[in-house]
Amino acid sequence: MEHVRKDAHDGQPSTTPSGAWQRLRAGNQRFVAGQAVHPRQDAGRLATLVAGQHPWAVILSCADSRVPPEIVFDQGLGDLSVVRTAGHAADGVVLGSIEFAVTGLAVPLVVVLGHAQCAAVAAALQARATSTTPDGHLREVVEQIRRSMMLAGLRGLHPGRQDDTDWLVDEHVRHTCALLQERSRVLAEAMRAGRTALIAARYDLTDGVVRTLTWAGDPAGSGPEQPRSPDTSPSLRTAAPPLPSGRPSRSRRP
Ligand SMILES: [Zn+2]
Repeated sequence: MEHVRKDAHDGQPSTTPSGAWQRLRAGNQRFVAGQAVHPRQDAGRLATLVAGQHPWAVILSCADSRVPPEIVFDQGLGDLSVVRTAGHAADGVVLGSIEFAVTGLAVPLVVVLGHAQCAAVAAALQARATSTTPDGHLREVVEQIRRSMMLAGLRGLHPGRQDDTDWLVDEHVRHTCALLQERSRVLAEAMRAGRTALIAARYDLTDGVVRTLTWAGDPAGSGPEQPRSPDTSPSLRTAAPPLPSGRPSRSRRP
C-alpha cells in the first residue's frame, strides 16, 4: 500500500486524514472564489487511472443536483469515492460502499456532506407537521431523517420555524456520522487505528462554502479545540475523537 502520495498538481500529501481534508478545503476555496482549476480531468489522467485507482476521500452526500462533490471541492478523476443518496440516508449498501473504500482502497477520510435547503429534510419536517408518511421508498429516507429529528429533540434542541430546515440539516449530518460509526465495525476500527477520520460538513447553496460541523477519529491530529457538546452526537462523544488539524466553523445555530 502506498503510504504517502504527492498530488501532481498541488504537491500536497493526500494519505493522512488531515491532509485529505486540507485538499478538500483548498478545492472548495477555489470553487467559492471562482478560481476552480478542474484538476486531473484530462486525457493524461484518464490514462493513468486505467491501471487502478487511489481515491483519498469518500464523500457521502445528498443526491441533490446542486451539490456535486467533485465540483464543489474542485477535484478530478480518481480523487473522490462518492456515494449519494437523498438526504445522505445510509443503508447497508451505502455502508458497504464506504467500507470498500476504507478497507479496499485505504481511503483516509470519510465526509458526510449535507446541505442547506435540503428537500429530503424538508419532506421529513412536512411529514411530521402533517402526521403523514410518504409513499414508496421515500419513506425510508424520511424515516432516517425523522430519527435525527427525534434525537435532536432528546438533546433539547429547538426545531425552529417549520419552514426552516437548516437546523435539522446540521443535526441530520451529525446523526448520519454517528450512525456510520455505530453500524460499521469496519469504519469504527479504521478510525480507532488512525487510518481514517470522519467529518461532518454542510454545503451552503448561497455562497458555495463547505463548513465543518464536527469530526472524529484522527489520532495524528493535534488541533487544540474540542467540539462543543451540542455539536457532538452521543456516538461521536463516545469515540472521544482527537482532532485533525484545522478549526471547525461554528454552526449558525446553538
Ligand atoms: Zn438534499
